[in-house]
Amino acid sequence: MDVQQKLAILADAAKYDASCASSGGTVRDSRGGRGIGSVDGHGICHSFTPDGRCVSLLKILLTNYCGYDCLYCVNRVSSNVPRARFTVDEVVALTLDFYRRNCIEGLFLSSGIIRSPDYTMEQVVEVARVLREEHGFRGYIHLKTIPDAAPGLLERAGRYADRLSINVELPTEQGLASLAPEKNALAIRRSMARMRVHIDDARNAGKEARAAPAASMPGAVPRRAMPTPFAPAGQSTQMIVGADATDDRAILTTSATLYGAYGLRRVYYSAFSPIPDAASALPLKSPPLLREHRLYQADWLMRHYGFSHEEIVPSADAGGMLRLDVDPKLAWALAHRDRFPVDLNQAPRELLLRVPGLGVKAVDRILAARRVRRLRSEDLRRLRVPLSKVMHFVVTADHRPGRSFEAADFGAHFRPAPVQASLFSG
Ligand code: SF4
Repeated sequence: MDVQQKLAILADAAKYDASCASSGGTVRDSRGGRGIGSVDGHGICHSFTPDGRCVSLLKILLTNYCGYDCLYCVNRVSSNVPRARFTVDEVVALTLDFYRRNCIEGLFLSSGIIRSPDYTMEQVVEVARVLREEHGFRGYIHLKTIPDAAPGLLERAGRYADRLSINVELPTEQGLASLAPEKNALAIRRSMARMRVHIDDARNAGKEARAAPAASMPGAVPRRAMPTPFAPAGQSTQMIVGADATDDRAILTTSATLYGAYGLRRVYYSAFSPIPDAASALPLKSPPLLREHRLYQADWLMRHYGFSHEEIVPSADAGGMLRLDVDPKLAWALAHRDRFPVDLNQAPRELLLRVPGLGVKAVDRILAARRVRRLRSEDLRRLRVPLSKVMHFVVTADHRPGRSFEAADFGAHFRPAPVQASLFSG
């Protein structure tokens, strides 16, 4: 099998992993003839899969052979798919080749587990080592790590990679035990905890080195050498949504724990895709992609808008699912109408962030503008916020929402208009 054939198989096999965004990397460049390539702090080359997920290139598996039998995975040992395996040198050569042709700005590398977790992890780390040390590669590297691999290997991976990730796969331990019996939830959490310690240590050491006074200042102690970075873009994980009956409440509870306990940068949600020759324990259909989208919106509210997961998603007794017809922030506002309307000229930032249609930037601009004048509806128009949504929830110097706000069917106003289904659609 030649490299192009392997690439076709191993790039296709990697497409199910959604945890590959590249934000937060270290700024590096190759000016002055140092190495090749560059990456800026805002991320690297992105592409989109047919179902709309954002992926970064070159995204491949080292191999899709795997000794494990995770039921949801197309690469599991019992799966009847064509197999391929790259050598370390082939992945290095492909990465450099694509990079030089300006097709990619980084590498996302994962692998099926061959021989043992340690052997596989050694191969993955070796690709990153050769790229960095032998070719001076300064692009973005995201390595998927194997939780059962030796701690020393994870530590080496962090020295070369911008980002590391370990997939928790299923939101609950029970789910993991039933669909991925060889995986160990405890080992996954233990590895995440170890990575957090390394990431925090490296970050703190970097801060101390930067804070030390420069040697040129009178009486200064020479500045300490910058410590070796460890996964400067942090760690992330992915959860499969809809492969079992776990509700959104449990999914977001797990996410909140992962952000809080392990300092994850991102949790990615990947709607389960039915695979060929699937086990009977799996659903026959994917969940609606809108569910995945609503989870991302809820996750965003938790990370940037001060919402807790308990506020966003109903309890298990009340169904435990995010609404699909309206976004989670609007759903929260509709369920808490007693908190509205919010006076844009007086409300604190935390409350402004809860107004449907107002993003973080708009809120900061509102706070800056109201220091010098009383805000009117015209000011909102200039901020380009969606007025048809926002004006129902706010008071300005010249606007107060009407009584319709109190009507029982007020929420219907925001639901998408029904669409006549085609007679011929499936
Ligand atoms: S270990 Fe990874 S590659 Fe192997 S079957 Fe499980 S999910 Fe798939």
